[in-house]
Amino acid sequence: TAELISGTEIRKTILAEIKEEVDQMKEKHGKVPGLVTILVGSSPASVSYVTLKVKTAISCGFHEIQDDQPEDISEADLLALIDKYNNDPDIHGILVQLPLPKHIDDKKVLNAINPDKDVDAFHPVNVGRLMIGGDEVKFLPCTPAGIQEMIVRSGTETSGAEVVVVGRSNIVGKPIAMMMAQKGVGANATVTIVHTRTKDLAAHCKRADILIVAAGVPDLVKPEWIKPGATVIDVGVNRVGMNEKTGKAILKGDVDFDAAKEIAGKITPVPGGVGPMTIAMLMKNTLRSAKLSLGIN
Ligand code: NAD
Repeated sequence: TAELISGTEIRKTILAEIKEEVDQMKEKHGKVPGLVTILVGSSPASVSYVTLKVKTAISCGFHEIQDDQPEDISEADLLALIDKYNNDPDIHGILVQLPLPKHIDDKKVLNAINPDKDVDAFHPVNVGRLMIGGDEVKFLPCTPAGIQEMIVRSGTETSGAEVVVVGRSNIVGKPIAMMMAQKGVGANATVTIVHTRTKDLAAHCKRADILIVAAGVPDLVKPEWIKPGATVIDVGVNRVGMNEKTGKAILKGDVDFDAAKEIAGKITPVPGGVGPMTIAMLMKNTLRSAKLSLGIN
């Protein structure tokens, strides 16, 4: 049976590491990382995401501003708000919770964030930096960064490994593929990207020493597609039903977990795998931004 890579456990470790660095920063420099979360409107899903981010930031010892704005805020006012935080020296990370209301252009808003405070790493400048790699990179996008961190912390060798990424989205597939192919720790891999137009998905997956699946299709990956001993990272989060008793959604990944764990060497569960890592990486990016602004490493 495969070793389980627990995102919940790794997150705990990372958040404790961050808290310790924040305490030291406060002692030595009299400053802590500052994060602002901007929420427009009050959709329940967005409120719950923002609440979790705020709670986590506070638990890390950050200076946290929760800036809630009404649903009918104008685009110009939202842009002015971002500008204010772009120029606030106590703020190192700016998060705008998506989706935004229809009358506001998402792209325009995200592109208004100072790339050096763009801790989600969605700004084209940060996407470009990721492509160049090395010292250029300020922030890595959080979900791919979490995936890479899990691979490294689970002791999976990446150098020269065959990595197959299922999915080519801007949030997961494309960036993780580029990150794994770069030079550096947790990278130096030979990467294949597969997607909806790929001819023989199974044949590609079977070659993978590390299989990263971000398709959004429950049980897409069958056990016979997995190379014995491979590390399997399941990014998919699919609602497949509702628990009658708790009223909570039943979540499933993109990999047939029960069967796959008998063949894989290491595997991430859903829930409790990649999901919990994303927020930890957001905190890590905010800490990094604060360190960069203080000129420390
Ligand atoms: P997306 O829909 O933007 O992209 C999915 C990609 O998978 C596409 O590029 C598509 O070509 C490919 N794909 C879809 N069906 C396929 C098939 N049958 N065969 C081969 N390729 C196929 O999705 P996304 O934003 O990349 O997210 C993917 C999954 O990961 C979703 O389930 C999402 O909920 C989850 N996700 C989780 C986290 C997290 O845990 N923090 C973050 C982001 C996304």
